[in-house]
Amino acid sequence: MSLPKIYTDKTAARRHLEKLQWPDGPFCPHCGNADPGRITLLKGKSTRPGVYKCRECEKPFSVTVGTVFERSHIPLHKWLYAAHLLTASKKGISSHQLHRMLGVTYKTAWFMAHRIREGMRPASMTPMGGAGKTVEIDETTSGKLEGAPARMHKGGTQFRNIVLTLVEHGGSARSFHIDGTTMATLVPIIRANISRESAIMTDEAPWYTAVGKEFASHDAVMHTAKEYVRGNVTTNTVEGYYSIFKRGMKGIYQHCSEKHLHRYLAEARWSAFAASALLIGGLTRPTSPRQLARHFLRWRSRRG
Ligand SMILES: [Zn+2]
Repeated sequence: MSLPKIYTDKTAARRHLEKLQWPDGPFCPHCGNADPGRITLLKGKSTRPGVYKCRECEKPFSVTVGTVFERSHIPLHKWLYAAHLLTASKKGISSHQLHRMLGVTYKTAWFMAHRIREGMRPASMTPMGGAGKTVEIDETTSGKLEGAPARMHKGGTQFRNIVLTLVEHGGSARSFHIDGTTMATLVPIIRANISRESAIMTDEAPWYTAVGKEFASHDAVMHTAKEYVRGNVTTNTVEGYYSIFKRGMKGIYQHCSEKHLHRYLAEARWSAFAASALLIGGLTRPTSPRQLARHFLRWRSRRG
């Protein structure tokens, strides 16, 4: 069995990463410029392939800027292969195995594994929101728990994974795989992740009432009364996030087991910046690629 080219060829690896990082074309990680007319691919014998120059800030960049692969002498395809091996094997993989499979020294393999694991860690847990900012909170169900009966009646949450999501308007999103919608599970997450000065928006679920009083304001839309937007009170942003997240799960992960849900949530967070930027942008102002890029940069800097 031969390996896909992205694991054996550095050009294929770079193109693959470009497609993932820049689905709408390259943008400058220094200033957020995403205007294709103001970005040029540098060609010349002395430049490495895949280096672009931003005509806004005059700085060069490539797809690896800001990633764990930046400034590495290890070829990109070996990085991708290592990341694949580390994420695809259920029991994990040792640095010794990596060293043999990648043809790099043991020391290099250990370093790579360390950097990749670091890159997979959840977003930094500095609180979201703040004075004058709004955070929507909502929960949804996804997939079945292991051992759930084959036939379940609709709407039953007993045997389903529950996901709690916090979305800051114009900012980032965080999702948590939780055991149940009790105050004991929800409240500590909400307290640890949202700044007290934020305004929060939820639906009318009773578990939000008490903790809501700890924030600058708490507004709830009455979903049971078919109310989704009242003035500027809404949970449409977080629901838009869920619709994208669930579509992704259906398309890519047909069988999402409990064990791996957290990983998919981390990936969903990656695309959520675009979702929230588009949704909010669509409501308040036109969204250009440049605005999207700014949203992305803000989102990534918050990830710290
Ligand atoms: Zn720039």
